[in-house]
Amino acid sequence: MIIAIDGPAASGKGTLGKRLAHHYHFRHLDTGVIYRAVAKALLDAGADPADEALAVAAALELDPEKFGHPALKTQTVGEVASVVSAFPRVREALLTFQRQFAAEPPGAVLDGRDIGTVICPDADVKIFVVADPVVRARRRTLEARSRGEDADEAVVLADILKRDERDRNRSIAPLKAAADAHVLDNSNLDIEAGLKAAIAIVEAVKAAR
Ligand code: C5P
Repeated sequence: MIIAIDGPAASGKGTLGKRLAHHYHFRHLDTGVIYRAVAKALLDAGADPADEALAVAAALELDPEKFGHPALKTQTVGEVASVVSAFPRVREALLTFQRQFAAEPPGAVLDGRDIGTVICPDADVKIFVVADPVVRARRRTLEARSRGEDADEAVVLADILKRDERDRNRSIAPLKAAADAHVLDNSNLDIEAGLKAAIAIVEAVKAAR
């Protein structure tokens, strides 16, 4: 079984994906990390984030072993990830890796922006997570502070809005719910309640088969 979870920045889809995968004993891939790893490679090399050829080269050389690196989580890396992810050739370079990950047994949960629309259009269950931008900014600020980062909620909100805009309006694989996605609004749900709602969606799809 393949479960696709999409949604905007800081919607909680990553944590939800991880917890859902754990619940079903499936593998989990946070696909944002892949774009963040490309961004970090460019930043580390002191390269221009707008250099598509270098970004493609970085995408082709990615090492999944490094996907857990804490530096991938920073705002700066997220911002550059949003820039490099708009390059069609970067997305193309990362497509096969994601599809192979999804296809391997016993099942997988992938979270990102275009899993239900482009990467796994035939996913068994598609969940599109949304939350009020102000709520997302608050959660992300608290998260950053808990990692010891200095975060200003107003700046985080501006970053989230800018990223939403760029991710929604890019010409390739824009952020949008697949026609057959189940929308989950977690503005007023904590992690446990969000997980429960997602499990209810998966179980309803299974029961309807
Ligand atoms: O989800 P996260 O904030 O880690 O993603 C970082 C950036 O990577 C997003 O703003 C988006 O531009 C890009 N991304 C994407 N497609 C995905 C996952 C992330 O374009 N499947």
